[in-house]
Amino acid sequence: MTTTAEHIKCLIIGSGPAGYTAAIYAARANMQPVMYQGLQPGGQLTITNDVENFPGYPDGVMGPSMMEDLKKQAERFGTDIRYGLATAVDFSSHPHKITIDENKELTADAVIIATGASAKWLGLESEARLNGSGVSACAVCDGFFYRNMEVAIVGAGDTAAEEATYLANLASKVYMIVRKGEMRASKIMQQRVLDNPKIEVLFDTVTDEVLGEHAVEGVRVKNLLTHECRDITVQGFFVAIGHEPNSKIFQPYLHHDEQGYLKTIPGTSKTNVDGVFACGDVQDFTYRQAVTAAGTGCMAALDAERYLAALGLH
Ligand SMILES: Cc1cc2nc3c(=O)[nH]c(=O)nc-3n(C[C@H](O)[C@H](O)[C@H](O)COP(=O)(O)OP(=O)(O)OC[C@H]3O[C@@H](n4cnc5c(N)ncnc54)[C@H](O)[C@@H]3O)c2cc1C
Repeated sequence: MTTTAEHIKCLIIGSGPAGYTAAIYAARANMQPVMYQGLQPGGQLTITNDVENFPGYPDGVMGPSMMEDLKKQAERFGTDIRYGLATAVDFSSHPHKITIDENKELTADAVIIATGASAKWLGLESEARLNGSGVSACAVCDGFFYRNMEVAIVGAGDTAAEEATYLANLASKVYMIVRKGEMRASKIMQQRVLDNPKIEVLFDTVTDEVLGEHAVEGVRVKNLLTHECRDITVQGFFVAIGHEPNSKIFQPYLHHDEQGYLKTIPGTSKTNVDGVFACGDVQDFTYRQAVTAAGTGCMAALDAERYLAALGLH
């Protein structure tokens, strides 16, 4: 059975801070945006408790509540917010083609990709259970909660080294858990870590278990050379083993780096395909914050509006 595709002027894929901000701007510009929320309505902030660094909330805000506020603001101006996952795209001709949930066909004049990124985890039951209760994948977001406490961080790349150094400015002690006998980080970042008296690097070591019933109380580590386990007392456990941008379905059409982060023309949200814009963590390897995601969401809506206006479609 063939069905006619629904045509949308401005389609927003993803409902994190980038998607909702794009929606607020697009709706207020009368672009009748339609948003598909994906499997995680509200995005990454729905799995965290306190957000203390988003401007406008002097007392901090719970992540899910902040995302509910953004949703209401987008709805207030008429954004059509729908359940559904973009499962395929065809950006080879205009208007662009998008498939939702493998069965609904859409065409869109402008597409704003705001599909975010997912942190990689170790996969331990205790890590998942204590996520948000001492386990975090974002030192910049959550490091402040561990001032003058002891923390551990897992990872060996540049990001892990940078986050360990960041945490050392706040915590009283940082254990850096490194699986191999050396780090993958650049020489200069390694040196910064090794020179920092507050950081103790545990080489050839893996995490066996995060300890604690309702909050992190420690971590059981295992030395891979001696096979000995020992418990370290920490209140925070940070995982810095990388992120995966949610960009697979777009990769055949859009330029991306080797990790899958979509490339945009510097200073804009434009991708290499006319009428397709990217914002938030899916195109941001560097900052990965709610406020930067929101900022680029604004850029995407403004870029989309100018694109549609130039074509006489708006
Ligand atoms: C535990 C944790 C705590 C954090 N704390 C803070 C903090 O305190 N302050 C801060 O600034 N930042 C924090 N961050 C980072 C912040 O959450 C991200 O930078 C921000 O959410 C990125 O926004 P985004 O809109 O780009 O994407 P995301 O929030 O990742 O949202 C992506 C959206 O895209 C949707 N999606 C994905 N694929 C598809 C698809 N195929 N079709 C349709 N929809 C799709 C998802 O369902 C989701 O709605 C934290 C992150 C984590 C994980």
